[in-house]
Amino acid sequence: MAIYMSISVPNVVKAWGIKRYLCPKKTEFYSNTLSMRSVIPNYLKTYRDGRLEAKIERLNEVLFCCSLCPRNCKVNRNKGERGFCGAGRELRISSAFAHFGEETCLVGKFGSGTIFFSHCNLKCVFCQNFEISHRATGRIITEEQLSIYMLYLQGIGCHNINLVTPTHFIPQILRGLYIAVKQGLNIPLVYNCGGYESEEIIDVLNGVVDIYMPDVKFSSSEVSQIFCGIDDYFPNLKRILKKMHQQVGDLEIIEGIAYKGLLVRHLVLPHGLAGTKEIMNFITQDISAHTYVNIMNQYRPCGLAHKFAQIDRNITQDEYIEALRIAHEAGLSRLD
Ligand code: SF4
Repeated sequence: MAIYMSISVPNVVKAWGIKRYLCPKKTEFYSNTLSMRSVIPNYLKTYRDGRLEAKIERLNEVLFCCSLCPRNCKVNRNKGERGFCGAGRELRISSAFAHFGEETCLVGKFGSGTIFFSHCNLKCVFCQNFEISHRATGRIITEEQLSIYMLYLQGIGCHNINLVTPTHFIPQILRGLYIAVKQGLNIPLVYNCGGYESEEIIDVLNGVVDIYMPDVKFSSSEVSQIFCGIDDYFPNLKRILKKMHQQVGDLEIIEGIAYKGLLVRHLVLPHGLAGTKEIMNFITQDISAHTYVNIMNQYRPCGLAHKFAQIDRNITQDEYIEALRIAHEAGLSRLD
């Protein structure tokens, strides 16, 4: 998950005056290079083939007995019931803006069109966006309004739509996407998640997502149990990563901008708790040695981390360098 930057939703979008900001000439000028404009996003092909609606219908059904993630709460989200993540029927977002703090290949010149969704299906005790994920700060929006945000972000030149923590809202997001596609959305879709995903849902997303960007947080079941209350995080993630890679392949970049593929994020934790070695070996041996991996050094104790002595400090420079060394040694060379 990206670190949240306190930039509020643009007033222009709040007022739903989006049409004034969709000047075609401006969009054409901003929207990437000539090469990028020739890239057709997966969701657009699926929409043109008439397969997007069936996927939306399937996801809507799941909301009646929610199994959008492996928590399998079985609550009726369409009736407003809430499971572990706390998300109900309606979409809730925290912010939408051109993000310049993401990976360089997503940011480019005009930013990554980032939409932060409130709630989370993982809820790590140390979450770097605790207010959004645990306390669900944000506001409810309709799917039409979500589509307007997407079009707005494209209109100001963003190189992609970057869905941050989308797992628990994916049916609503796809409905918003469908509306936006009909209005001309045509930039790559990034699925920026915590890595605790349902295999079935990832299958449904085949042909929708262009760039999968999962966190790979920890390899130890004991650690994931302590910090997220689940012991199957890594076994599940291994299967999910394979599916994601089968769908989109290694990250592909044109003129500095990513448009398709898998981008893995790994946040280094104090005392080696993330299990970096096992994770990097798995990626190299079972996914691809050409996987693009961002080893992140920004861990700091947030949220409830102060209650856990082992993670109640920043990581050291030595710990970060060691994580990089492990990744190199495993055979990975595309490190952000
Ligand atoms: S998305 Fe939320 S309600 Fe649905 S299974 Fe996951 S945690 Fe439970």
